[in-house]
Amino acid sequence: MDYLPIFMNIKQQHCLIVGGGAVAARKADLFIQAGAMVTVMSPQLGTEMRFHLAQGKIVWQMAEFSPSQLAGLLNIKLVICATDVQAVNLAVYHYFKALNIPVNVADQTEYCDFILPAIVDRAPMTIAISTGGRSPVLARVMKARLETLIPHGFSQLTDLVGRYRQQVKNLLNEEQRKGFWEKVLTGLFIDKAVHGQEGEAEALLQTQINALHANADGNHESAAMPAHQGEVYIIGAGPGDPDLMTFKALRLLQQADVILYDRLVAPEILDMARREAERIYVGKREKWHKVAQPDISQMLVDLAKQGKRVARLKGGDPYIFGRGAEEAELLVQNNIPFQVVPGITAAAGCSAYAGFPLTHRDYAQSVSLITGHQQAGAQEIDYARLAHSGDTMVFYMGIKNAAQIQRSLLAHGLSPTMPVAIIENGTRANQKVTITDLTQMVQVIATQTIKPPALLIIGEVINLRERLRASASTPIQEAV
Ligand code: SAH
Repeated sequence: MDYLPIFMNIKQQHCLIVGGGAVAARKADLFIQAGAMVTVMSPQLGTEMRFHLAQGKIVWQMAEFSPSQLAGLLNIKLVICATDVQAVNLAVYHYFKALNIPVNVADQTEYCDFILPAIVDRAPMTIAISTGGRSPVLARVMKARLETLIPHGFSQLTDLVGRYRQQVKNLLNEEQRKGFWEKVLTGLFIDKAVHGQEGEAEALLQTQINALHANADGNHESAAMPAHQGEVYIIGAGPGDPDLMTFKALRLLQQADVILYDRLVAPEILDMARREAERIYVGKREKWHKVAQPDISQMLVDLAKQGKRVARLKGGDPYIFGRGAEEAELLVQNNIPFQVVPGITAAAGCSAYAGFPLTHRDYAQSVSLITGHQQAGAQEIDYARLAHSGDTMVFYMGIKNAAQIQRSLLAHGLSPTMPVAIIENGTRANQKVTITDLTQMVQVIATQTIKPPALLIIGEVINLRERLRASASTPIQEAV
């Protein structure tokens, strides 16, 4: 090991920063966050450091470094030097080295008694990552990975456990305490504490502590902590590109024992689940009947009742044309705990990847998400309103009914030259974007043999792709 990792208490301690630039300001920020009294010695301050000064977070000693300037500063705990004058850096290093005060010259490991790690901050839990000064960028890459894996709820979890530490200490000896916490800090308790159900987590912990009290009183019936309880995660997996999943979606997917998925969920996304998780396809299959919606909802209930953690993976967002609410309703009726994880809906993903926005202050003040495939008896779509709304219109499941959509919008006065983007397999490797206009839309769908999943987006914002072209992820076909 090149360096000993330690966490040092510098609250209310004097720490010195030599230098007033951006690097010095970043280091000062760390000292400030750790509660130190920070003095910055520098003839000038850059913008970032001035910001600290304006907020009263540092004391500024307007001077070049020289030992005589340190007169008022007693008991300096740590020193960081970040100037672009090497002679100053070296003078600072040698001066404090001789006094045995730890010093760090930014970006020069040979002049560092200590180095600062990359930090994953879930205070009071703190994870520090170091490459021993070999590659700060690699440390940051590792930090980014850990950031995605460790929910922010670990802050609350750590606080919660900390509040009970003494109580448990009073009841158990060291060996027993270790066993107790190892048993508690698994499965259900952690799940609940890190996912915002702190009250329930605390109740579980309380049950375990009550059992300890009961044991101490000679009553040996202890309440066992369940490993986990059946639960359902209704997860929006985004429109296709696996990188568009949220951190929460990924974490819950990786916890699941069973995964129910449909046609729109990309195989790469399923690959991110645990290898041993059971995968059940509930989408449409050619020449097969798909599993009916009430049956899917019932499967979720049945699996959760068996104690399984069930991920219901859906394309896009579960609550936008995703029938997520129907599943949630049956879960509520059956008292099954569940979470809904929002996803990037096809409209947002496809427009961004095709290179144009859905709103723009000059072209569209609002967006309508419309289903092109209505259930029998559903409320009629108000084409008259849509045609005059100025909305960007996004039709989901609209390919089959494109002729009717076209007819209705033209009949209500929408301009025949209104731009239309037809986006097939948006955000996926085989994304196909075709640009046309309202009069030619239906014909283009036929000649380009567009197949679902595809979106029809209608509105002037589409013209912006000319200016934003660089942001498109695939070449765009012009079919006008
Ligand atoms: N809940 C989903 C929508 C499900 S309805 C969401 O929020 O995105 C299914 C329709 O969504 C498809 O018929 C298609 O119109 C649209 N869709 C979903 N993914 C798509 C994609 N990758 N590219 C184009 N359209 C997509």
